[in-house]
Amino acid sequence: MILEATPPSTLESEFNPKISAEVRFDEAAARLGLDEGMQKVLRSPSREIIVHIPVSLDDGRLEVFTGYRVQHSIARGPAKGGIRYAPDVTLDEVRALAAWMTWKCAVTNLPFGGGKGGVICDPTLLSPSEIERITRRYTAELFDFIGPEKDVPAPDMNTNEQTMAWIMDTYSMHARHTQTAVVTGKPINLGGSKGRPEATGRGCMIVTEQALRRLGLERSSTRVVIQGFGNVGGMAAKLMSRAGFKIVCIVEWDCAIYNAGGLDIPALMKHRNETGSIAGFSGGEMIDKTEAMFLETDVLLPAAKENVITSDNAHRLRTKILCEGANGPTTHVADSILAEKGIFVIPDILANAGGVTVSYFEWVQDRQGYFWNEQMVNDRLEEIMINSFQDVVAYAEKHSVNNRTAAYMLALDRVAYAIKLRGIYA
Ligand code: NAD
Repeated sequence: MILEATPPSTLESEFNPKISAEVRFDEAAARLGLDEGMQKVLRSPSREIIVHIPVSLDDGRLEVFTGYRVQHSIARGPAKGGIRYAPDVTLDEVRALAAWMTWKCAVTNLPFGGGKGGVICDPTLLSPSEIERITRRYTAELFDFIGPEKDVPAPDMNTNEQTMAWIMDTYSMHARHTQTAVVTGKPINLGGSKGRPEATGRGCMIVTEQALRRLGLERSSTRVVIQGFGNVGGMAAKLMSRAGFKIVCIVEWDCAIYNAGGLDIPALMKHRNETGSIAGFSGGEMIDKTEAMFLETDVLLPAAKENVITSDNAHRLRTKILCEGANGPTTHVADSILAEKGIFVIPDILANAGGVTVSYFEWVQDRQGYFWNEQMVNDRLEEIMINSFQDVVAYAEKHSVNNRTAAYMLALDRVAYAIKLRGIYA
């Protein structure tokens, strides 16, 4: 994509996820030789909805909140993507995240397009009942645009399974019948899926194992450094240590814990649950958290936040495999440094797609009214993650590009093909 006439400063453009996504889109589109018209279609969101939601606050005041829902693509199926509540949500951010969901669903070959939503609010300043009223009114405003066949939201930053239960209930009240498949990430007894909390971490483990095979590495001698010990990083650590990987370091916002022989992850989790931090854990030594990412290791799994691997520090990484559990942990400027260093990158749109894959399973189970046991969920997740990994790596080899470019090319190609097959309705 052609950037603005006056390019932003290097720093600003390196850390802007929208620009990173555009750079990667441009490269993939150019290598695919997509014509200008198709590029325009793929860049343009299919629909953008802005709602202004009046809500009575607990103290009797009336406040108006602004909410967005962007459906980037519905070419391959209903839009799919989370809803975030934050004071600084912007339409631009929601647009970029919606497109990201389109590519993530396409790379895993799920029958979904991409969407994202957001409400500008600060949940830390709101009571649970105020959040409930915001959620219900936002859902009511979107009633005509969401639904199992149209757009299926899910939790994201500052929203959770309770938020999804309120959305499901509000939608169902308007529809005059219970419709569980309108959202995913619901509580298990309201149509949620088994295996969802572990799904993203499990997906990271599955694709890491595939990478090990390609590099001829053994699980038991594989050292893993994980940044972030939350839903993704914590689950990945738990499952990987159980499967025989050696988790040598966990890096959190306040400190890092290292043990060359492998950390006892269940004990570290217990310690964190009891004390609120990994600091002071007796089963390892505290090391400098800013240096921990640069330890010599076999697998580095950033699972905390975006923009942690940059043009400033990428040359210092000493890992064979980079499995991107977080969204956007690597800036687009750092990509070429990783390629020069020969690091095997499992890009975020593939590595952390386990979550949306089990969301897809939740939607399928809700529509079937028939629920799978956890083993079935895990087996099907494994099949999809392995197939997606193989597809990306084969694409990379065929087109002599790195894995990230291959993932984007594959995704763009699949969406463009769906649009071509459907034809342009006029
Ligand atoms: P989370 O809040 O559960 O966990 C994040 C963890 O990272 C927390 O333990 C936090 O203390 C830690 N952290 C924060 N800042 C840090 C820092 N500077 N250094 C080290 N650790 C830090 O969030 P999550 O759901 O695990 O999501 C993590 C990332 O994965 C995000 O980028 C998210 O968008 C992405 N992701 C999550 C899912 C999912 O299913 N949860 C799916 C796809 C992508």
